[in-house]
Amino acid sequence: MILYTLYGNSYIDLKHVSDLKGITCYVNSTNRCQCSCTFCLRQTKEMMEGNSLWLKEEPTVEEICHEFDLYQLDDFKEVVFCGFGEPLLRHEDLMEVAKYLKQRKPDIKIRINTNGLSSLSWKRDITPEFKGLIDTVSVSLNASNKEEYYRLTRSRFGIDSFDEMLKFASKAKQYVPHVVLTVVDIIGEEEINKCQKIADEIGVTLRVRPFEK
Ligand code: SF4
Repeated sequence: MILYTLYGNSYIDLKHVSDLKGITCYVNSTNRCQCSCTFCLRQTKEMMEGNSLWLKEEPTVEEICHEFDLYQLDDFKEVVFCGFGEPLLRHEDLMEVAKYLKQRKPDIKIRINTNGLSSLSWKRDITPEFKGLIDTVSVSLNASNKEEYYRLTRSRFGIDSFDEMLKFASKAKQYVPHVVLTVVDIIGEEEINKCQKIADEIGVTLRVRPFEK
């Protein structure tokens, strides 16, 4: 499925939702990722046939926009590019989708949930291209130091990935109204405090979210 929402821990195709008022609409555009996180839901989550986030093929820009044409954008609280993978591996395509959505509804809120490593994949700083299209960038911080980050994410970019992810968050701040770093609550108070210090240093918000199995 391409567009879905969350009920508790369940992913539901928008086509199966009768009342869409106030929902968050997630966009699943890719299953690819530069990381192989030890906790990745792609390895642990069981999916029901018909509500699976495993894509047979990545949808084109036209296919994603066509899906949006089935719905009133006024119903959505927020649209989130997240994927069941790293959405910014489809950066150029997703900016096209964002443009389409902003044309249809200029004040629609659009967020990207990202690992913050895709400027490395595109071999250029992609953050200036968010300007006017993306309202929130949420970056997975995961840990307070590069060794632990690398142990958890097993990023293909190696031990420097942590610094690159922070550089990405810091740059995004220039072009996007809200930049958030996220960690899960199970990492403990001491580690959360260290992560808060990192967020404060680069002037972004830290969000501690519940760990999802
Ligand atoms: S960055 Fe996200 S999608 Fe990629 S492996 Fe980690 S948890 Fe999974």
